[in-house]
Amino acid sequence: MDRFSTRCVHAGTMHDEVKKGINSPIYTSTSFEFIDQPDTIYPRYLNTPNEKAVAEKIASLEDAESALVFSSGMAAISTVLFTFLGKGDHSVFQKGLYGGTSHFLEREFERFGIECTVATSQTAEDMESCIRKNTRVVYIETPSNPLLSITDIQAVADMAKKRGLISIIDNTFASPVNQQPAAMGIDLVVHSATKYMGGHSDILAGAVAGREELMKEVYQTGLNFGGSLNANTLYLLERSLKTIHVRVERINDNAMELAHFLETHQAVKQVNYPGLPGHMGHKIAAKQMSGFGGMLSFEVKGQDGLAFQKRLKLIKPSMSLGGLESICSSPAHTSHRHLGPEGRKAEGISEELIRLSVGIEDVEDLKADLEQALK
Ligand SMILES: *Cc1c(COP(=O)(O)O)cnc(C)c1O
Repeated sequence: MDRFSTRCVHAGTMHDEVKKGINSPIYTSTSFEFIDQPDTIYPRYLNTPNEKAVAEKIASLEDAESALVFSSGMAAISTVLFTFLGKGDHSVFQKGLYGGTSHFLEREFERFGIECTVATSQTAEDMESCIRKNTRVVYIETPSNPLLSITDIQAVADMAKKRGLISIIDNTFASPVNQQPAAMGIDLVVHSATKYMGGHSDILAGAVAGREELMKEVYQTGLNFGGSLNANTLYLLERSLKTIHVRVERINDNAMELAHFLETHQAVKQVNYPGLPGHMGHKIAAKQMSGFGGMLSFEVKGQDGLAFQKRLKLIKPSMSLGGLESICSSPAHTSHRHLGPEGRKAEGISEELIRLSVGIEDVEDLKADLEQALK
């Protein structure tokens, strides 16, 4: 098989038989003549040419047997969870989930009769201790949002195998450039492709990759939930993935440099970045990640997160992550606002915390912006 960068560019590309164009053509049809090609039927059936092209690329980059693309990260996550969990089933989730995922558990699981336990930490032992007779799924997310906690992927995959559970990981923060959990024995990998995969802050998409046997079931549920993506956006996602290795490598470098810069700055109290040797999860991160990603968070001494963000000029306070531009947010005022002061304290999220999604700008300009805001 070709090496990673080559697969980013070439894997899954459709051959244009008619005009010999270098790129995959965009097929916008919702209806296809089926007599000679019964496998291409209908976009919601996740089997159009543009769906297949980008799914094949994602499977290749995730080192997985197959993949499917959805209309958002939450469409991918909800489809996967409802594929393997039904009335009377129990599931175990790690501590520190993406806000949308924990909201989904709180709001949807109970009325469908699905039980879940959110562990009190990110360790495999802790998650194992939550297992009951009816547990079917264990779900992790590493690095986590917004404290960049690290879960030992291999340990969770081994534990899940031993206990007969389906293991699922949200690999959004790392991207397949930095971390390939399927190779470590995780059954299914989910993504918000809105983030690093899309990479330009202009498309909403999701993906699932994993073992063929399980993906067949995800496929059947996917048809019923109807979260498919249109051809034009599928093409944009395919185009974006061709540069993901270049983008994420630059982002890794910038984030590492900014983490060092912030760590040694006298106005900064605490920096959370798995690439720093002082980070709690650094050893495990170094074992399972080839780069440490573009997400970091930090606390400014005695300054509320909102006030600090107002002083930044180049780095824009805004939601989402994984784009070309550096942006920041203050979790206490955005993603974790609904928890209230007590809930945030339990999660370790202070009013001072700033989350940074590092982009591909010149790192000296990013440093200068942080420096002037920290003064
Ligand atoms: C954004 C995000 C999601 C949800 O994805 P959408 O594309 O917004 O539906 C899930 N997990 C993580 C880690 C995310 O950052």
